[in-house]
Amino acid sequence: MICHRCNGFMVEELLSDMDGQSSRAQGYRCVNCGEVTDSVLLRHRQLKQLPKKVGRQPRRLEVIALGGSSC
Ligand SMILES: [Zn+2]
Repeated sequence: MICHRCNGFMVEELLSDMDGQSSRAQGYRCVNCGEVTDSVLLRHRQLKQLPKKVGRQPRRLEVIALGGSSC
């Protein structure tokens, strides 16, 4: 499962409503940005078939080697 926001990895998770009275539903949580998606939202997205937003990607840190060369 890939996050629709950041293309990060999503893990399966059991979700429950805020009041805790509703039954739990299966969902997915992005380990990268924390986006939560449940089966209902997934179904809506599949029905709409929205185009993927490619513009937002997770920031990649570039490691710059400092002090490697001697003067
Ligand atoms: Zn994400």
